[in-house]
Amino acid sequence: MQEYPAYLTKGFTPYDPIELWQLTEEKVCRGDARKYTDFYCVGVYGGISTGYTVGCCLRCVFCWVDFSRDFPDRYGDFYSAAEAARRLVENARKKRLTRLRISGAEPMLGKEHLLGVLDRVTGQGFTFILETNGIPLGYDAGYAAELARYPGIHIRVSIKAGSARGFEERTGARGESWELPFRAVENLMEAGVSFHVAAMTDPRLMPRDERRSLLRRLRETGYTDWVEEEVCDPYRTSLVRLKEAGFDIF
Ligand code: SF4
Repeated sequence: MQEYPAYLTKGFTPYDPIELWQLTEEKVCRGDARKYTDFYCVGVYGGISTGYTVGCCLRCVFCWVDFSRDFPDRYGDFYSAAEAARRLVENARKKRLTRLRISGAEPMLGKEHLLGVLDRVTGQGFTFILETNGIPLGYDAGYAAELARYPGIHIRVSIKAGSARGFEERTGARGESWELPFRAVENLMEAGVSFHVAAMTDPRLMPRDERRSLLRRLRETGYTDWVEEEVCDPYRTSLVRLKEAGFDIF
């Protein structure tokens, strides 16, 4: 990878998401610290205290996350695991919430930080929600087992495509990696971690055949629970990314 990739532009060169994961960690992780842009409570999940991290290993064209995803050097500050855990818990207590979440990018980057946060909040009566694209959990087979040590955790795996071609077109990552999120589902089931699957099946972005292929591949993993089907909303960042990549859906 010659240059750190920002949002996709027409005619982009597909990248290796594992290499991008490692390059991004070099920018957003330092020991047990990780970059965040902010910590505050929001209304989703019935009210949840959220830390917004910086950095992802995909470049989805529909992504709503702020431009810290594309330019991680320019945004955010480093927070140790202890400081991030303290902020998550303090914000939750102020609003009497029982749910915590790391969102805003890919929370599974920087394993030392994530496990450090979980070590500190576990046992305090919170449900901890992690929203992931399934790349790290699919690639690192032992990661799910490490998360299984934490009761109270729930993972939302968001699958972006049902074919190699769709994966490459809409995330920019090489098509050969398209099955990693399905492997994440298998790894989570095997480890016995609480999770559910979301999928970006918006018909303006995903052809009907590809949606069928996604659901078929998911059934092959043995997953039989509900699938939260997502739609693309016209956030300012999503509109820029879609336009730059040559998608016209609004
Ligand atoms: S939608 Fe999620 S996985 Fe895709 S680029 Fe944005 S943060 Fe990363």
